[in-house]
Amino acid sequence: MSTGFSLSSLNEAQREAVNSLDGPVLILAGAGTGKTRTVTCRIANMLQQGVLPENILAVTFTNKSAVEMKERVCGMVSKAAGEVITVCTFHSLCVRILREGIEKLGYKKNFTIYSGQDQIGMIKQLIIRKGGKDINLDANQVISLISNNKNAGIPAHDQADELVGAIALAYNNELRAQNAVDFDDLLLLAEKLLREHSDVREVIRKKYTHVTVDEFQDTNGLQVKLLKQLVGVPYNVCVVGDDDQSIYGWRGADVTNILQFERIFPDPKVILLEVNYRSSAAVLKTANSLIKHNLGRREKELKPFKPGGKPLRLITMPGDEEEAEFIAEEMHERNATQKTPWEDFAILFRTNAQSRNLEVAMRDMKIPYRVVGSQSFFDRKEVRDCIAYLQVLNSPISDVPLLRILNAPPRGIGQASALLITEASRERECSIWEAMGVEEVLSQLSTKVRNSVNAFVELILKYHERFASGEECMGTLFHEFIEEVGYEDWMRRHCKTENEKKQRGEGLNDLRSDLAHATSKKRTLQKFLDHMALQSDKDDDIEKQKGVCMITLHASKGLEFPLVYLVGLENGILPHKRSLEEGTIDEERRLLYVGITRAQDEFTMTYCAWRTKYGDRTSCEPSVFLKELSFDDIIEEDYDDIMGAEATEEETESFFDGLKSLLE
Ligand code: ATP
Ligand code: MG
Repeated sequence: MSTGFSLSSLNEAQREAVNSLDGPVLILAGAGTGKTRTVTCRIANMLQQGVLPENILAVTFTNKSAVEMKERVCGMVSKAAGEVITVCTFHSLCVRILREGIEKLGYKKNFTIYSGQDQIGMIKQLIIRKGGKDINLDANQVISLISNNKNAGIPAHDQADELVGAIALAYNNELRAQNAVDFDDLLLLAEKLLREHSDVREVIRKKYTHVTVDEFQDTNGLQVKLLKQLVGVPYNVCVVGDDDQSIYGWRGADVTNILQFERIFPDPKVILLEVNYRSSAAVLKTANSLIKHNLGRREKELKPFKPGGKPLRLITMPGDEEEAEFIAEEMHERNATQKTPWEDFAILFRTNAQSRNLEVAMRDMKIPYRVVGSQSFFDRKEVRDCIAYLQVLNSPISDVPLLRILNAPPRGIGQASALLITEASRERECSIWEAMGVEEVLSQLSTKVRNSVNAFVELILKYHERFASGEECMGTLFHEFIEEVGYEDWMRRHCKTENEKKQRGEGLNDLRSDLAHATSKKRTLQKFLDHMALQSDKDDDIEKQKGVCMITLHASKGLEFPLVYLVGLENGILPHKRSLEEGTIDEERRLLYVGITRAQDEFTMTYCAWRTKYGDRTSCEPSVFLKELSFDDIIEEDYDDIMGAEATEEETESFFDGLKSLLE
């Protein structure tokens, strides 16, 4: 097999990793030292050494990095072989495993994956049902309590609060009854399936003889347990990680997993990489000066491959609008005069809310941009409605999507009737769909409603079969279905403006062409829905668009850009105010470290004297982290000096006083 990768493009430690294909390997190294590049070459080498592509599995942290790694391997070896290897996230891997064997755990094969939105809907209902109308419980908080337990291997209902426990129990029972799973269940059930069923485990172990995990520092205990089941003797497993970049503690990730690795897979070959090829010496020195304030880390110093470099910039801004305008203008200028491509720029921020001003400024200056990590497509009502329809067509016993579309568009099954059927389904401990086929339930409805229910059931059954047969193009079929249901007309009637009509129409069109594409790839409706579910809930967006990349710090992990702007270096934002309360400031520091180490050539950070929150101006304090950075390679600039703008004294005075005492 011809390979396009050459060992000479690697340093000695990297080469050693690439050549160590047998037994456990642990690559521990700092940012930008070529971990991802090394494991990608290592996979190419496996192919060269005769490992079959179908036996290779690589687990990445996001869908985006999975796509990238696959492309890189395709570029190095033959495209055909690259296409066959499995590169995916833990969650998609679990879906694959469960689609094969979930029946052994008592589920039906066509289980539905409920997204965050579906969960919220269910939990909200359960809060009212279990706690009454006046109860003041936050659905998101309940979900995260349930999720924490699932990830920690504790029963979901094992809660300090009795009501939350009752809700958790009911939630799990409902999921089960609807043949549905949430994101945590994917991991939980896959691990259980492999652990309890040696036949399934053996099949999987035989299939994936060579396993790689990138960004291992952000795996949680459950994922490590899964890995343990997945990989058998002789433990051909390679994990890659950097303890300084562990930023998902809030999702249960645990840095000590790196230590656990050595316990599960004894005597791994440990490889340390020390040369950073990504960033200039100036960027690295600044990043190093920050991260050394974290205690209890494995001491390591990154050596820059690129000497020197431009100094970093710290710019004070009067307000958040100026911050955004300044960045947009500067990018515009550089693009116009130096022909810097838009794709070279990235703007990093701590919270999603910060992207709004930036987007406005980009639009004003007509700069193309993409927001990575936004879920806009999936948040759109028409997309969610149609996905719900497709979920019902795939598996009608899923109550959540069924309720969503039962009367959308209106077909004479109003709220009162829906409630009656729902209650009946609870009494009978069956799904709503099943209840709609029970004579005693139907007899409680008026003839008119009853006819509507029957017509609905028939319609779903008809298309269910057509989708299941796999003989028609799903895009065309979907179009026909939506027409028959009258969804598009109904949606159009509810649009307030022409623009909205156009946008929503585009949403449907996108979905239609996605379905057509899936058909051409011989994917089933089930596969299509899995793919959608796995896309919709993550900090992640595989859409390949051009333009300036606007991205949260969390989602920026593993990526690199020539020119990086990091905005909002203020207390309360970075470090986030929650971290001050929860004592997770070290994780915030690692997050800033991740941000700085994304930069290849230039790094600019900004902070504002005030920021608009909920329509009010609030004054801001510069981030405590600024005090920790070495200023040897940072120059400070002031917005007013650069722009010649006037800021009122009031606005800036207290801010600069604060800053002065902080930096002194
Ligand atoms: P992160 O910790 O951010 O995930 P990483 O350790 O995975 O970073 P890579 O993204 O693999 O690092 O590599 C960083 C950059 O350095 C890439 O542009 C890569 O192509 C380059 N690089 C890695 N190794 C070498 C090498 N031996 N020679 C030249 N360039 C290299
Ligand atoms: Mg990487």
